[in-house]
Amino acid sequence: MIYLDHNATTPIAPEVLAAMMPYLTEEWGNPSSTYKFGAKLKGAIEAARGQVAELIGAQASEIIFTSCATESNNAAIHAALKANPAKRHIITSAVEHSSVLNFCRTLEYGGFRVTYLPVDRDGLIKLADLENALTDDTAVVSLMWANNETGVLFPVKEIAEMCRARGVLFHCDAVQAAGKIPINLREAPVDYLSITGHKLGAPKGVGALYVRRKTPFTPLIVGGHQERNQRGGTENVALIVGLGKACGLARQKLPEYDKKVRPLRDALEDGILSSIPNTELNGHKTQRLSNTSNLTFHGIESEALLILLDQEGICASSGAACLADSDEPSYVVQAMKSESAASRQMIRFSLGWENTNVEVKAAMNAITRAAKMLRG
Ligand code: PLP
Repeated sequence: MIYLDHNATTPIAPEVLAAMMPYLTEEWGNPSSTYKFGAKLKGAIEAARGQVAELIGAQASEIIFTSCATESNNAAIHAALKANPAKRHIITSAVEHSSVLNFCRTLEYGGFRVTYLPVDRDGLIKLADLENALTDDTAVVSLMWANNETGVLFPVKEIAEMCRARGVLFHCDAVQAAGKIPINLREAPVDYLSITGHKLGAPKGVGALYVRRKTPFTPLIVGGHQERNQRGGTENVALIVGLGKACGLARQKLPEYDKKVRPLRDALEDGILSSIPNTELNGHKTQRLSNTSNLTFHGIESEALLILLDQEGICASSGAACLADSDEPSYVVQAMKSESAASRQMIRFSLGWENTNVEVKAAMNAITRAAKMLRG
C-alpha cells in the first residue's frame, strides 16, 4: 500500500502507542478517584496537557481535552456565542471543514446570521472582505489555519489581530496545521484553537481545544467536574497521553517536516503536472502546506481515478474523508473555481513522514497509467 491521504488520518506513531499502553493495561483507574490508583493518573493528564500547550505556544491551563476536533470546533463557537448573548452574527468561510460549516448552518436555523466569506481561485480569503463583514453584531469569527483539501494557509495572525482590534472573538481550526507548521499563540491573538490527535500520529477519538486565558468559556458537554468544569466526562487517559506524546514528537520533529515531506510532494506534483496533459493545481502554489497537493485531472471523474488507484494499492481521496461517501463535488474546489468541472475531477494527495521516493515514483507511474486508461 502507498498511503497518500495523511490529511484524512495518520498512522499511530510507535512511540505514541508505547506511551499509551500502560494506560490501556495496568493503569486503568479513574483519575477522579481519591485513592492513589486513580488519582495518580491526574499527573499523566497534566503532563500531556503541557505537551499539547508547548506545540502551540500556549500555557497548560489553556488546554481542554475533547473527543475530537469536531467537538472542539463546536465547543469554541458555542462558547463565543454564549459570551455575547446579544450578538447574532457569525463569520466563517465557504471552505471550512464540515464541523464548522454544518454547526454554523444549524445556528442559522436557530436565528443567527452567518457570513460565509468567499475565496479566490487560489483558495484565499481577502482580508478586506473580513473587515467589511465585521459588524457590532458579530459574536465570533471562525476561520481555519490550513485547508484540509488544498493545504492553503489563511493569514491567521492578521485575521486574529483584525478581530482583536474590533473586539470580536476569533476561533481557528488548526487541525491540519498542527505538527506541519509552527504555531505560536504568544504571537497571534487567537482566542480559541482546535486540534485533533489523528492527524498527527495519535489515535482517533481525542482532540484539544485551546482557550486563551481570560477568554470566556461555557462548556458544550455538561456533566462532572472533569477538565476544571470545562468538559464533563471521565477522561480517556490513554488517548490523552497519546495526544500529548504525539504533540511532543511533532514539536521535536517539526524542523525536519518540511525538509522531509516537501520534496516528495513536489516530485509527485511536478511530475503529474508536467507529464500528464490537462492537469491543474488547485490552491495557492506557495501559501500552502508542504504535504498537500490538490490536482484536477480534466475530463476524468475523481471516483473513476480513485478506484483504479485503489486497485494499485494507492490511497488518495477526492476531498474530505468524512464526506467521501457522498457523491457531491468538492465544495472547497467549487468555491475556488465555480465555473469549471474542477471540483468533480480533482484528487487530493497528502503526504506524511513515512512516504519515500520509491513510493512517489510508483504512485507517479500508476497515476499516469490510470489517467491514460481513463482518457482512453
Ligand atoms: N477540521 C479539519 C480541518 C479537519 O480536516 C478535520 C478532519 O478531517 C476536522 C476538523 C475534524 O476532526 P475530527 O475527525 O477529530 O473530528
